[in-house]
Amino acid sequence: MTKKSNLEIIVPVYNESYGLYENIMTISSYLSPKVNNIITLIDDGSTDSTRREIEALSAGNGYIKGIYLAKHAGKEHAIYTGLENSSADACMVMDCDLQHPPRLIPVFVDKWLEGYMVVEGIKTSRGKESYFNKTMASAFSKIIKKFFDINLYNSTDYKLIDRSVTDKLLSDDNSCKFFRGAVSSLNLKSCPIYFDVEPRAYGSSKFGLHSKIKLASDAFKTLSKKNNTEFNKMH
Ligand code: UDP
Ligand code: MG
Repeated sequence: MTKKSNLEIIVPVYNESYGLYENIMTISSYLSPKVNNIITLIDDGSTDSTRREIEALSAGNGYIKGIYLAKHAGKEHAIYTGLENSSADACMVMDCDLQHPPRLIPVFVDKWLEGYMVVEGIKTSRGKESYFNKTMASAFSKIIKKFFDINLYNSTDYKLIDRSVTDKLLSDDNSCKFFRGAVSSLNLKSCPIYFDVEPRAYGSSKFGLHSKIKLASDAFKTLSKKNNTEFNKMH
């Protein structure tokens, strides 16, 4: 019998104490039996009782672990902390609020086992979102397409990446972090998994205008650096 591969599901978590336990239990109920699963919850310096919830989850379930950032550093930082601390054969990133439908986890795993190095969730609808948010998101992806020729339209952080892809991401300069863009800029053949954004299971979005502006600025810095690196390799 061949040994099962290890999959680590990295979940950034910020001030999500309400409903976190139930959400992680829901995610757990959809894990693929074809791999050994670990769920790593990265507490992004929460100021509520998120840490206690994560400790309770990991104390009661051997496959769940917690990493606790001393200070709030943002979702991208939390994702990269998860990647840096993982030695799994594949890493999957997903939100903790069930907006990335966990029932698709086995589909991601199957596509990876078929040989795709990147399996990525693509939104078919953006769910309940304000007109302002939709317009900003659309403008953002148009600008990224124009400047860097990368299509991030409806792309998400809901992704599964092979160990080789994680290694490549981590070997790059990550002083600015933008997970979605960094994976896309590798130009690997990926398998899309289409999904409708579900309503948030509990609470409200943790992205204020300030976080969105910071993300857009980090996205630009990350992609500019990657473009320069490719440019330097060619000359
Ligand atoms: N999150 C985080 N740090 C932040 C903002 C969000 O770790 O600064 C986490 C959050 O707890 C959730 C995921 O990132 O698991 C997505 O956040 P949210 O649902 O607020 O984003 P939205 O769905 O509004 O884009
Ligand atoms: Mg959300």
